[in-house]
Amino acid sequence: MTIAAVKDWIREGTEDRSVQVMRWESWIPIKVNLFIWRAEKDSIPTKEALIRRRINIQDDSCPLCGTAGETVMHLFTGCFFATDLWMAVGQWCGVWPVLAFDFKDLLGIQDYVKGGKWAKRIIRGIVYVSCWVLWKLRNGKVFQNSNPKMMEAIALVKSWSFLWLKYRSKFGSIEWKDWTRNPLYML
Ligand SMILES: [Zn+2]
Repeated sequence: MTIAAVKDWIREGTEDRSVQVMRWESWIPIKVNLFIWRAEKDSIPTKEALIRRRINIQDDSCPLCGTAGETVMHLFTGCFFATDLWMAVGQWCGVWPVLAFDFKDLLGIQDYVKGGKWAKRIIRGIVYVSCWVLWKLRNGKVFQNSNPKMMEAIALVKSWSFLWLKYRSKFGSIEWKDWTRNPLYML
């Protein structure tokens, strides 16, 4: 099966790609929810979006890999930095492989998670945190010329999601040591 065929097959399964699928996740901070909401609408300031608004950009390539134009789709699904992160996060969460061809696919990952409501909500939130981390690293590279590192990205996903779940949900007693092994351990 080619990538294109898989893509078509996934698209057929979803009725309308223009419908907003993002759900607000209460254990995730508002700024992160808003970011996901805007990313789904393709209204975050990627280079491609800035060029669309006729802002003069010399180089439209992805700051993380330099091999493609920077779009929401590339940054969060096509970029090797994103695919590596999804592989690591997917293994950690026991949702593997993560098949995502565009941003909306990322927003549906929790549907494939076995378990109850909270298993899905935690995975949904971790996907949001991962996108947020990718964007932060991208901004670090663009504005501070810092070198994005995969180890750092994974560590940030684990620690931010841990703190937010611990202090913003009923799971106040989760332990870091167990969390880093499996984020659904307490269910
Ligand atoms: Zn890239």
